[in-house]
Amino acid sequence: LSTTDHIEPHRISVCVRKRPFNKPEITRKEIDVVSIPGKGALLVHEPKQKVDLTKYLDNQVFHFDYSFNETATNELVYKFTAKPLVQSIFDGGMATCFAYGQTGSGKTHTMGGDFTGKQQNSSKGIYAMAAQDLLRDYNGKVYDLLNKKTKLRVLEDERQQVQVVGLEEVYVTTSEEVIKIIQMGSSCRTSGQTSANANSSRSHAILQIVLRRNDRATTMHGKFSLVDLAGNERGTDVSSNDRITLVETAEINRSLLALKECIRSLGMNSDHIPFRMSTLTKVLRDSFIGEKSRTCMIAMVSPGLASCEYTMNTLRYADRVKEL
Ligand code: ADP
Ligand code: MG
Repeated sequence: LSTTDHIEPHRISVCVRKRPFNKPEITRKEIDVVSIPGKGALLVHEPKQKVDLTKYLDNQVFHFDYSFNETATNELVYKFTAKPLVQSIFDGGMATCFAYGQTGSGKTHTMGGDFTGKQQNSSKGIYAMAAQDLLRDYNGKVYDLLNKKTKLRVLEDERQQVQVVGLEEVYVTTSEEVIKIIQMGSSCRTSGQTSANANSSRSHAILQIVLRRNDRATTMHGKFSLVDLAGNERGTDVSSNDRITLVETAEINRSLLALKECIRSLGMNSDHIPFRMSTLTKVLRDSFIGEKSRTCMIAMVSPGLASCEYTMNTLRYADRVKEL
């Protein structure tokens, strides 16, 4: 894959990204069960044991629009996923890019980049790169709808317009401002919990960039929704089996199921988009309507054998949202 050629966006594109092993996995000498032979293909080879204890390798092949291996940079992933959607926003369309996968598979790394602490020059994510491209091409007319930690209500009016009540919209002119807002939002998302990762994995984060024809215009021209989804692992962790966690888990499962159904309906050009199934899909209603809607899903997978079950779940989900 090169970073220079122009990519024509599909209505729905589904890609997969494998992250490199992290230090603990290397220390544990985990087996790599995911390989990317190229051209959108991905192979899972899991060592298994039959009942008679003979060992065999279970190979499963998947095909997506693109598959990125562990050496891929955020720039390369952006180039083939969200970047092709930027033009559709200038054309007045809706574009949505989702990061899907188990906790720790690289969703936030891909979307938000690694802005941890003082590392100013650390890798940029899709949020920042999309904001940069939109600002470069549109002369500084970008709005950011940023969900602070206040509780917001999602309401639908008589014209079926979904409103997020009290949502803050910030007018920005430079991509540096966008990055600052993203950092603020990320710290909001991860504060108040002992483990940052644990908290953010229980919520969906949405950055919406709205284009208007001029500063005062109330009508929207195009909208880019960038979504760092909650971890897709089921709440099977016994230690966290309290009531709030169970309710949260049920809502996460419902919203990811609803999302799958909405993208599938979009792919089948169905008149009925079941966006009312969850709050997430209500908020993203605009993403699923209109001729010009473009959606990209990036499924993130961990390389190791220990994550294999989650990896298979992620790949099956991604396989289901592919356009038929
Ligand atoms: P998630 O948001 O899916 O829970 P994170 O994005 O937080 O996962 O990733 C977990 C850890 O793995 C982080 O420390 C992150 O920096 C690292 N990581 C994820 N993807 C990559 C990648 N492609 N290259 C290098 N490090 C990565
Ligand atoms: Mg995350």
